[in-house]
Parts: sequence; C-alpha cells; structure tokens
Amino acid sequence: MKRRDLLKSALGLSVLGGLSALKPLYASNDFTIKADPMYDVPSTKVTDRCYYILAKDPEPSPENHAFFNNPGFVVTSEGVVVVDTGSSVQIGEMVLRQIKKVTDKPVVMVINTHYHGDHFLGNHAFVEAFPKVDIYAHPACIKNIKAGGGDFWVSFMQRNSNNGISGTVVTVPTKTFVGGEVVKLGDTTLKIHQFGKAHTESDLIVEVVEDKVAYLGDTAMRRVANMADGSFAGTIETMKQAKALGCEHYVLGHGPHDGAAICDDMQSFCETIYESAAKYYDEGLSDFEMKPKILAEPFMKDVASQWPGFESTMGNFISLAVQEVEKSMF
Ligand SMILES: [Zn+2]
Repeated sequence: MKRRDLLKSALGLSVLGGLSALKPLYASNDFTIKADPMYDVPSTKVTDRCYYILAKDPEPSPENHAFFNNPGFVVTSEGVVVVDTGSSVQIGEMVLRQIKKVTDKPVVMVINTHYHGDHFLGNHAFVEAFPKVDIYAHPACIKNIKAGGGDFWVSFMQRNSNNGISGTVVTVPTKTFVGGEVVKLGDTTLKIHQFGKAHTESDLIVEVVEDKVAYLGDTAMRRVANMADGSFAGTIETMKQAKALGCEHYVLGHGPHDGAAICDDMQSFCETIYESAAKYYDEGLSDFEMKPKILAEPFMKDVASQWPGFESTMGNFISLAVQEVEKSMF
C-alpha cells in the first residue's frame, strides 16, 4: 500500500465518521446496488492451456472499473482453473465471458495468489456461477482477508473507481495451499509453490507443468507499486527459485507475460535497492540521502526508470529497504 493511499484511506474514514448522521458517501456495503458491467478485454493465449487477461493500466480508475491486474486461467481436460479473479464481481463476470469464448468447460478451481484486492474480489462472480467451486489460497491470505483486508480493499476499489465495484461481496477462499502441492486435473499437472515472503507472506506461484508456464502473481513485475507487505531479500530468493523452475513463460499479476528475463529483472531491481540500502546504511546515510545514489545505479537508470510508479514510489521503496536492513540486524 502506498503512503498516498493510506492517507486517502484515513481521510475517507474521518470524512465518513464526521458525516455519520448522513447517508454514506458510497455504497460499499450496500449489495442491492450493482455498478455497471465491466467492458470485455479479450484474453491473451500463452500456450494451448494457459491464458490471461491483460490489464493495460497500472492503477485503478473510474474509466477502467478498477481493472489493473491480470486474471489468468488454465484450461484442463477436467475443467478450468482460474488464477486471480480481478477487483470486483463485475470483473469476475467479464473473466467468465472470456473463458466461455475459449471453452464450454466449467470452472473447477479458483486460486488467489495473495491477499491484495485486485487478486480476490472477483471471487464473488465465480461462486455465483459455480456454487460448488473451491477457492484456494495460502492460510495467511485467508487470515488477512478475514481480519479486515476484505473490507479495506472494497473501500479502496470503490474510492478509486468512483463506486465502480458496487455489489461486490468479499468472498473468502475456503481451501488452503501452502506450497508443495501437486494437483492432477486430467491432462494437466499443477504444482503450487511458496518460496517464502516475497510480495506478501501469502504468495502462491502456480506452475502448469506440461506447458512450462508459471503464474507468478505479484512476486515479479516491471512496475514500482507496493512493497509494504513484502520483502526485498525474500523476493530475491523467490526470483531465483522461480527461474530455477525452468519455465518458458511467466505470467504476471501486472503487465505482459515474458520469459525468465522477468525473474532476472525483478531480482536485479530488488538487489540494487536492498544491497545499496545496506551499504549506505553502514555508511550512516539516511534514506533520503541514499535515494539519489541508488537512482543513479545503472539498473535503475537504464531499466527501472521506465517502469510505471518509478518517479512517485521509489522513495517509499528505499525507506522500506532501509527498514528491512535494520530489522535483519536484530
Ligand atoms: Zn499485490
């Protein structure tokens, strides 16, 4: 969560609190009102079994109905497995429409890669369409959503989409994966991986063995967005392990899919920040003093400076890296 969003959130709450005698400003908990449907975004085919729906915007907005991450799906001979469901019931319904264009098979499993709202709020649409479908996530993901994360993300998406997700009900995953599971669905083998805390402590990576595809969730991205729940050291380790899977295609939570180069880029990005922060911390520099030096590193200048959020969010990333360096010393 970016500081800006936290501030906005605090402001939103205080405004609502002050107007408690009046009608609420938005209907995040009024399930009788449903926002307009999400427009269709055609799916991208990665391999015979593996697809995802590419969100072109890096941030939620009223225009994009809070569609800013990539729901994925895998077509097996036993049915469809959905990996992340989008920010709303409307986006979940849109994902279902795209799946129908590819196959008549039912959705037999949903997996949420972690507890950020753009990855699980669409669950609502899948239990409506397939009441018996199992939704899987890491236990830490379920715990976070139940402990207030669900409501927080509904409010966040409502605010950022001008109430574009109204009608979305937080639908908590019911089954758990902790990493190490192998799921056989007819002709398709899924391996579930958890390589430690990377983007969050609840990250799951879904490998589709026969197609050499891995769905990485938000563990890797070419975007400077949200490290508040994550770990630089953990992401570096996760990228090494993700690359070692030897997949040909890596599907991301944000941005177009790629080969193993995405693992290298994310590893370099985190190493540059984390190792520089440790070095300058030892030299007694504060985070704002080290910022220009880290931004001048070749990887930052040549590569990461092109990523969305670089200008606005790098300062926040460096502060978080310094905190992680400090923590690692005790
Ligand atoms: Zn995320």
